[in-house]
Amino acid sequence: MSLLDRHRAVMPSWMPVYYGDDALEIVSGSGRRVTDASGRTYLDFFGGVLTTMIGYDVAEISDAVRRQVGTGVAHTSTLYLIRQQVELAEKIARISGIPDARVFFTNSGSEANESALLMATNVRRSHQILAIKNSYHGRTFATMAVTGHRSWSSSALSPLSVNWLASADRLRGRMAGLGDGDLIDAAVDDLREVLATVTAGDVAALIAEPIQGVGGFVHGPDGLLGAYQKVLAESGILLIADEVQTGWGRTGDHFWGYQAHGVTPDLITFAKGIGNGFALGGVVGSAAVMNAVPAISFSTFGGNPVSAAAGNAVLDYVLDHDLQGNARRMGSILMEGLRALSYDILADVRGRGLMIGLEFVRPGTTEPDPAATVRVFDLCREGGLLVGKGGLHGNVLRLGPALTLAEEEAREGLAILIDAIATADT
Ligand code: PMP
Repeated sequence: MSLLDRHRAVMPSWMPVYYGDDALEIVSGSGRRVTDASGRTYLDFFGGVLTTMIGYDVAEISDAVRRQVGTGVAHTSTLYLIRQQVELAEKIARISGIPDARVFFTNSGSEANESALLMATNVRRSHQILAIKNSYHGRTFATMAVTGHRSWSSSALSPLSVNWLASADRLRGRMAGLGDGDLIDAAVDDLREVLATVTAGDVAALIAEPIQGVGGFVHGPDGLLGAYQKVLAESGILLIADEVQTGWGRTGDHFWGYQAHGVTPDLITFAKGIGNGFALGGVVGSAAVMNAVPAISFSTFGGNPVSAAAGNAVLDYVLDHDLQGNARRMGSILMEGLRALSYDILADVRGRGLMIGLEFVRPGTTEPDPAATVRVFDLCREGGLLVGKGGLHGNVLRLGPALTLAEEEAREGLAILIDAIATADT
């Protein structure tokens, strides 16, 4: 029996596996490349869903983890003092931009958002939340409730009362010929309208991704979150920035995605890249909000010694090697190459730094074309390049390589991608 058949026989049907009957088993990795069970090597432009932020088999990170494992202490994150955890919290608090910040570690992005929602609802004594359509915040009950499309949010049960804001994305704005200022005005009007339907003072928080990840790397104009926050502040409503995909310099211009918006969130959530594959997430926020939970709240494994060791090594690597700068430079090479293309199926190339989305449509229309997207996706793999998929209609290819991407690799990946698009367009 093949591994895929065994997987299907023992895993639930809803677990996504890329490449259908030709699913990939990755057995080793080095730098920005992975090798599958048949010995074929691929350039990886998706990095395990943006988790291998530094790349595969990076000595500084593997050594830090090995050192921790070598102490024999791999256990809980709570009850005892953990030097690695305190050091990482100090660094994240400093870099968060939030004054007098506190950090709580989790294992995943879902738990980070769940914790942020817990704190916001406690400090505001309200279970009303604002969220944005087309968002993805996780798979716990509260985070599914604020995930802006039912196909990514499999439970109809919600512990929260959620009101939805329109996704003021660039694509729709550009298609409708709207400029950034018009889009922000429209989004703020929408926010005011939604607030008029609830008692604004009772809303706990707005949760937003600076760039929507699973939603297809869609983002509103710079300054949008700042414009929202001005309105939210009138009623003391908190802003939660979900930086699970956008944090740590990935967007190139800024360390955090929120910094493009002239705003400081009350809470920032993070996960994915900070562990470079080891399970680590968390929330950073002001002491006033973070301390609001009235009972003991903990995570057995969130920020455990091994994950915290990885997190410290990753953050040091990002800062010491100016990976934000590299994300900006490599992102521009990819963006320039892709924006120069003119194919009927390619409707939009968008994103920031090393977070780039390509949107595919039926030629001559604005109708999403998931079939063309899958063709390009499969052709990329045939050509030796792994990319991701996403978007509400499954018609967006997502590029999120490690921030250590080298220029030759950026150009190599670009060439494969261009070939794939050209072939799929004919
Ligand atoms: N927030 C965002 C923006 C995400 O992209 C994801 C994961 N795709 C999550 C939260 C949930 O993270 P996890 O899968 O680690 O629980």
